[in-house]
Amino acid sequence: MRKHSTPATLRLLAQGGFAVFLVWTGLRFLDHVRWALGQSEVWTPKPPAVEGFLPISALMAAKRLLFTGAYDPIHPAGLTIFLALLAISFLWRKGFCGQLCPVGLLSNLLERLGRRLGVVWRPGPFARRVLAAPKYLLLAAFCYVTFSMGAQDIEAFLRAPFNMVADTKMLLFFQQPSALSLGVLGLLAAASVVIPAFWCRALCPYGALLGLFSWLSPSAITREEAACIGCGRCAKACPVGLPVDALRRVNSPECQGCAECVGACPVAGCLGVRFAGLRLPWWSLAAGSLAVLLGASVLADALGFWQSPIPAPMVRRMHMLLLGQLPDF
Ligand code: SF4
Ligand code: SF4
Repeated sequence: MRKHSTPATLRLLAQGGFAVFLVWTGLRFLDHVRWALGQSEVWTPKPPAVEGFLPISALMAAKRLLFTGAYDPIHPAGLTIFLALLAISFLWRKGFCGQLCPVGLLSNLLERLGRRLGVVWRPGPFARRVLAAPKYLLLAAFCYVTFSMGAQDIEAFLRAPFNMVADTKMLLFFQQPSALSLGVLGLLAAASVVIPAFWCRALCPYGALLGLFSWLSPSAITREEAACIGCGRCAKACPVGLPVDALRRVNSPECQGCAECVGACPVAGCLGVRFAGLRLPWWSLAAGSLAVLLGASVLADALGFWQSPIPAPMVRRMHMLLLGQLPDF
């Protein structure tokens, strides 16, 4: 591996590539929505990947799958992506958060800006715990609501017209944000300049869930104590402020699997990735995460768990009924 192929550059490439894919997906979805709202007669199928932006619907569908064995009939790709992210977290820690997530890319860029401006604040151990608490509380609230719903309520939610057009509503939220939404996004961006990965560390309940799965993972960043010179560069490079230089195995649910610590270590072979005791190259976290996501989508497509089964006329009827009064966009 040449010197410029560092974890930081690979991470930026993976995050950037995934962001480009999502922009392409978003543009195709826009064409689909124009057709569904009767603003165009050119039918564009809905790109299944947009359903990945519906985690609450996927959580409900996961409960339904658990108790009935039936797959989500409305947003099958959403459930597939949800299950794939859980599998990634189990196998490759929070590799999705650290290597692919578009919010992770924004956080990465804002952290770099903060470092340039010299305004980065690194919370100590107590502040780190306080900072991480809200996302676990949010996750607990979502799980409580989902798991206290009966089978009929879940069925009613999944089949409700609102859920059928939920991905379109999500698109409209990003396309026509209110002043309040823009203000909140601005505050989150400013916070991320000062506190690296602020959204991921403090507020993302999806990341909290993935973190809990990653706790059980056989993979982790490990440190060879005999080789370590105690320079502390690994801990300084860690976006979530983990004390990598004091741990033999980084088993925290906060670890994003970004491998930035490995790239910062000046001693070859001191920090690395281990999977069930087996030493793997640092890029295995990114490659493994991408492979699971791609593999899950290909397998789901072959099994009929990827494309939405809702007939096109029904999709249009639902859109016209619930959202048809919108101006052209
Ligand atoms: S411990 Fe290493 S891999 Fe985990 S979040 Fe920190 S820098 Fe990234
Ligand atoms: S960067 Fe490497 S050598 Fe320095 S403290 Fe961390 S593990 Fe030890």
